[in-house]
Amino acid sequence: MTSSEQHDAYQKVRADMVEAQIRRRGVSDPRVLRALTKVPRHLFVPSHLWEQAYGDHPLPIGEDQTISQPYIVALMTEALDLTGAEKVLELGTGSGYQAAVLGELAREVYTIERLASLAESARLVLERLGYTNIHVRIGDGTLGWPEESPFDAILVTAGSPQVPRPLVEQLALNGRLVIPVGDQYSQTLTRVRKTAAGLQHDYLGGCRFVRLVGAHGWQEGEQRKGFFG
Ligand code: SAH
Repeated sequence: MTSSEQHDAYQKVRADMVEAQIRRRGVSDPRVLRALTKVPRHLFVPSHLWEQAYGDHPLPIGEDQTISQPYIVALMTEALDLTGAEKVLELGTGSGYQAAVLGELAREVYTIERLASLAESARLVLERLGYTNIHVRIGDGTLGWPEESPFDAILVTAGSPQVPRPLVEQLALNGRLVIPVGDQYSQTLTRVRKTAAGLQHDYLGGCRFVRLVGAHGWQEGEQRKGFFG
């Protein structure tokens, strides 16, 4: 790491982001707030976008994909109720930013990205930042990561038409799964809890994610269906 990175010019901007965009909107878990204050979000976007990295919106990360809005990252992370002991699965590594936040809050993080170039750059930045508890794999996340299951928490950061069955199967008893479910334009952030009495659902609000493409998500060829076909 270079000295300019060690001297983090964005520390104050990041603290302001957490206060204005996240705490003030109701995210209160102190561990989550601390993680978002710590992780250098700008290092997960292309350098020409550093100045925008702490804005209240998603940003492009290449390959037509995006890093989520900070508030959405905080909301989804809080919904997983992490204490530090958990084994977590993430689908949609993208930039690696959400994985880093999870890496601060859980014991081990397994994250799957279908696009090799994104997985590789995420792996690089996570390694450079010293996260040894985050494991990146290239593949179809809708199949889960059976060898490492069960997971105490599963986070899906792409929009899906339904809850992929393998993920429910790979969720531990009392585990939490958070996933945006809906059509290609808007989804409902859905939390599924696996209890001894069965699956319990609750809904955390509306959101808009890029598509989860895979065996249990959208089909590869299924293009955005615009108004004009
Ligand atoms: N969590 C990311 C943002 C995710 S954007 C971050 O913090 O930056 C959604 C990502 O999901 C994209 O990178 C996309 O390529 C990936 N994706 C879509 N379908 C997938 C699948 N079936 N398995 C794994 N990754 C998938």
